[in-house]
Amino acid sequence: MEIISDSGAMQEQARAWRTEGRTIAFVPTMGYFHQGHLSLMRYGREQGRRLVVSLFVNPAQFGPSEDLDRYPRDLERDAGLAAAEGVDVLFTPTAGDMYPSGYQTYVEVGELSRGLCGASRPGHFRGVATVVLKLFNLAAPDVAVFGEKDYQQLRVIQQMAADLNLPVRVVGRPIVREPDGLALSSRNTYLSIEERRAALSLIQGLNAAAARAAGGERRAEALLGAARAVITASPLVRLDYLELADPDTLKPVERLQGAARLLTAAWVGATRLIDNILIEGD
Ligand code: AMP
Repeated sequence: MEIISDSGAMQEQARAWRTEGRTIAFVPTMGYFHQGHLSLMRYGREQGRRLVVSLFVNPAQFGPSEDLDRYPRDLERDAGLAAAEGVDVLFTPTAGDMYPSGYQTYVEVGELSRGLCGASRPGHFRGVATVVLKLFNLAAPDVAVFGEKDYQQLRVIQQMAADLNLPVRVVGRPIVREPDGLALSSRNTYLSIEERRAALSLIQGLNAAAARAAGGERRAEALLGAARAVITASPLVRLDYLELADPDTLKPVERLQGAARLLTAAWVGATRLIDNILIEGD
């Protein structure tokens, strides 16, 4: 595995592969790898593609009071894990390379960016869309792999790719969870033992709603009420949002008809966690 930190060198490598007729899979990350990241790499690796993984804690997607400075980092460990997954290039650009002085171009994906995490984190998806478009231009992937863990992010990137005619297929992959159900996240390392226990209420709440839906409940308000009661039961948890949304548009739905996505974000102590599940209607 090669580690490339220069954006020009990354672009040259991708161009050379393409000239040889290779297909390229790409997994953008912020590092501190866990099994969720590795599952995306394994998917990308399939069918003999070249595999590029980027590791970049993107300043443009963090708000001024967010955890950019204390976001967990361990390049040596990440490089070992990526190499073991058969990654060809670990791309580790610097912030100065990605956003040199005088940088002034940003990508805004409209409505999909506004609700949910976009409402709680103004400018977040503008930063995400911008960096992902830049990374696509550097890694030149045929396929880009994202986790459904960040479901709104996945939809925002798919919309950007469609709207801007990007020659890349944006694939979403299922959430990888701990045995007890907690969605893996680099931010789980922030949690104390008590917070880790309380954090389980996110998936338990989502599952409570899914159980009501399986029992025939179709009213969004009843499903949301079932989830809310579980999520907010712990005094360590403060709900940010909980919504039942159309899986494509992410607009709230009032009645479950086809499939919908139930999405939540909550503060567990000082850590903001997100999770979501698919809820099947009729
Ligand atoms: P991050 O490093 O947190 O920016 O995540 C990089 C990619 O990994 C994103 O596409 C995430 O959605 C995905 N990801 C993060 N956690 C998980 C998980 N538990 N299961 C599957 N994918 C994940």
